[in-house]
Amino acid sequence: MKQLLKQVSLAVAACGLFVAPVLATGTNFPVICPVGQIATRGVCAQPTPDQGLKLLLEGNRNFAKGNLLHLAVLSNPAVRKVLALGQHPYAVVLTCSDSRLPAEILFDKGLGEIFTVRVAGNVVAPHELGSIEYAIEHLGANLVVVLGHERCGAVKATYDTYPGEGEGNIGSLVKDIYPAVEAVLGGNPKPTGTAEKAAQVEECIVENIKLVSESLEAKSPIIKEYKELGKIKIFRAKYDLDDGIVRVLGE
Ligand SMILES: [Zn+2]
Repeated sequence: MKQLLKQVSLAVAACGLFVAPVLATGTNFPVICPVGQIATRGVCAQPTPDQGLKLLLEGNRNFAKGNLLHLAVLSNPAVRKVLALGQHPYAVVLTCSDSRLPAEILFDKGLGEIFTVRVAGNVVAPHELGSIEYAIEHLGANLVVVLGHERCGAVKATYDTYPGEGEGNIGSLVKDIYPAVEAVLGGNPKPTGTAEKAAQVEECIVENIKLVSESLEAKSPIIKEYKELGKIKIFRAKYDLDDGIVRVLGE
């Protein structure tokens, strides 16, 4: 059946459609949905936030195994032409600019599915908040993932600079990551061992993901309203550079 799905996927890609990973109950035929939608009981619709997260994580498992599928299908030129008319991504991924974190590849997704916001240290300032607000308010995305990653250089730089705050434009990034380092170190001296320092940087990375996730609602009345109304869900996640796995830390 997997092979059949793949063949039909490729066949219909030229029409700007892709085969939903969910088959209609009680039928032997795959349901074909537009990009960004899935089939539930034979009806195409935007995935719920939980379904969207499942799609991302399933794609990530493909990536981790070196078995990308959706990227090839949905990067089809015909699909591109259809999507040129409009976009309805279901997920927003706020992640780091690190060259090893292209969200579409990590999650094995093609054009039109993920609205990506990338900045070193996956922090949020007005531009990033405005981008996320646009995606949920005007494009209809209902899932937000704050994705940090192992050995993040921006967090490490902030840790190394602490208790200093840095200067210039990079200093503005350090300033935004600083609260996470402060929460972990709490004014205490850093350990002297390399391994201990590296472990503490990882703690800072997790704390930064948490603080950034919380700050989305604190800094954006629009995100807060959508969250409180149950229109969106926000998840925290961390990417492992070594095994390629995205692990969800919580909601
Ligand atoms: Zn990073």
